[in-house]
Amino acid sequence: MDSDAGTTAPPAPLDFIREIVAEDQRTGKHGGRVHTRFPPEPNGYLHIGHAKSICLNFGVAAEFGGLCNLRFDDTNPTKEDVEYVESIQEDVRWLGFEWGAMFYASDYFELLYRYAEELIRRDKAYVDSLSADDIRNYRGTLTEPGQNSPHRDRPVSENLDLFRQMRAGAFPDGAHVLRAKIDMASPNINMRDPTLYRIRHAAHHRTGDGWCLYPTYDYAHPISDAIEGITHSICTLEFEDHRPLYDWIVDALSGAVEFKSRPQQIEFARLNLNYTVMSKRKLLALVQQQLVSGWNDPRMPTIAGIRRRGYTADAVRDFCARIGVAKKENVIDMALLEHTVREDLNRRALRGLAVLRPLKVVIENYEEGRVEQVEATNNPEDPAAGTRRVPFSRVLYIEQNDFMEEPPKKFFRLSPGAEVRLRYAYILKCERAITDASGAVVELRCTYDPGSLNGPTAARRVKGTLHWVSAEHARGAEVRLYERLFVSEDPGAGGRDPLDDLNPRSLERIEDAKVEPALASAAPGTRFQFERQGYFCVDPDSREDKPVFNRTVTLKDSWAKIQRRT
Ligand code: ATP
Ligand code: MG
Repeated sequence: MDSDAGTTAPPAPLDFIREIVAEDQRTGKHGGRVHTRFPPEPNGYLHIGHAKSICLNFGVAAEFGGLCNLRFDDTNPTKEDVEYVESIQEDVRWLGFEWGAMFYASDYFELLYRYAEELIRRDKAYVDSLSADDIRNYRGTLTEPGQNSPHRDRPVSENLDLFRQMRAGAFPDGAHVLRAKIDMASPNINMRDPTLYRIRHAAHHRTGDGWCLYPTYDYAHPISDAIEGITHSICTLEFEDHRPLYDWIVDALSGAVEFKSRPQQIEFARLNLNYTVMSKRKLLALVQQQLVSGWNDPRMPTIAGIRRRGYTADAVRDFCARIGVAKKENVIDMALLEHTVREDLNRRALRGLAVLRPLKVVIENYEEGRVEQVEATNNPEDPAAGTRRVPFSRVLYIEQNDFMEEPPKKFFRLSPGAEVRLRYAYILKCERAITDASGAVVELRCTYDPGSLNGPTAARRVKGTLHWVSAEHARGAEVRLYERLFVSEDPGAGGRDPLDDLNPRSLERIEDAKVEPALASAAPGTRFQFERQGYFCVDPDSREDKPVFNRTVTLKDSWAKIQRRT
């Protein structure tokens, strides 16, 4: 789909994770192997935060001669769906990565179950019949130790029998759980006999009605890693306190099963971006309540959304490289993401002339019926992109806000008596404005300087340069202007509903923009710079007779301004 995917960024200085991996290779830990995985839960589309994890996991594997698996962490039957499984694969590929192998945690349900029986036999797990509330009450608090459940000392044979009946569907949801037998007095609450299995009579998108017993993340994840031979299991910081449990699970089964590796969990700070939300639950609410057009709405921080908006995979990977990998949480400014895509598109996007809010201009001294083809530069950053010919004629459109009847000082655009250069063409002088009954300007009467393109006055300088299109040749287009989806830097801060912080003006649709002919026939996904306006991308909604453009980003670089200030 995207020809720009697939290049690897130049080697950056090693972050703390790459330092660990490099050291492990030096010391021969894991036999010198490097094997990572990216483990999304297929309960939503991937977002820009996932891109950070993808770049890290696939990047580390590639740089150290290893492999990265794609693993669907589909242990929660109720929220998962094949639509998500498919979108995740598409998005990882679009970002330019290829997995060593693809697995589903649900592939391991049978093995996970057998290992759980082994834990019971080793007296490291037991069936608890307390209610969920009681389990919580017995767990204690950060300052008080928990208490043992009255069922903690059930004999192994009784535990095995109950666990088998749980699998067979003999009990309703919540009747029993399987818990690890660790330490109810542990200062780490995660070690206070955590739940390994719950009864849930729910169909699963892959295993159907095969199971009514589902493993928890804490149980399934380390074992899935060990089965696949993962060496470095990279996850976000909120799992730091789960690491002792991760290790406990792998160790508790050692000797009993042939794990391919003794994986190690390493935590890094997740990506937080201002002016957006990134939890899949909140993104799903936007989709379900139709506050956006779908997961791939160009305002969404999803990979599918920013792709449709016009971001390139290169820009997303470059952004991930710039933000780096650290152990401390911080919030990244959305302006940095916008700056990154602007830089990328400045290098690659073809230039075009498009008038978003047209104002008719009649050049009174230009012959009726005459059409000239003026030569326009396709990309000043890339001479190889060449030039194109743009039709010029007596009636043009310019941008409404490029004209003012009574201009303030330093308004170097059109006003009665003023002159401007038309981009790639002549110098134009405004003679007078024609207004309608309400006094609104509907047309400008102008004259041009015939020598100012290739003739004797070609070098004559005037202050402003305007973009334009020839009225007769221009094509109608719909242009969608996007602003940030949320008005607040931290939507939902202080426990409010993030949806209360939605920006009511995040989408403005212009139905009757005018674009030069070359833009109208471009395929969906084609990116342009509309001169003086910003970067735009052809939307998949485009039709032969009605092209649709998404504004990817404006030309105004607030990040560069922030940089200059600091
Ligand atoms: P969400 O809260 O959006 O549902 P999640 O962590 O539950 O996110 P998963 O599908 O479980 O979503 O995530 C897959 C991988 O992506 C995990 O390893 C997770 O740590 C990582 N990840 C998720 N969000 C971010 C983020 N904002 N920054 C970096 N990595 C992330
Ligand atoms: Mg998760």
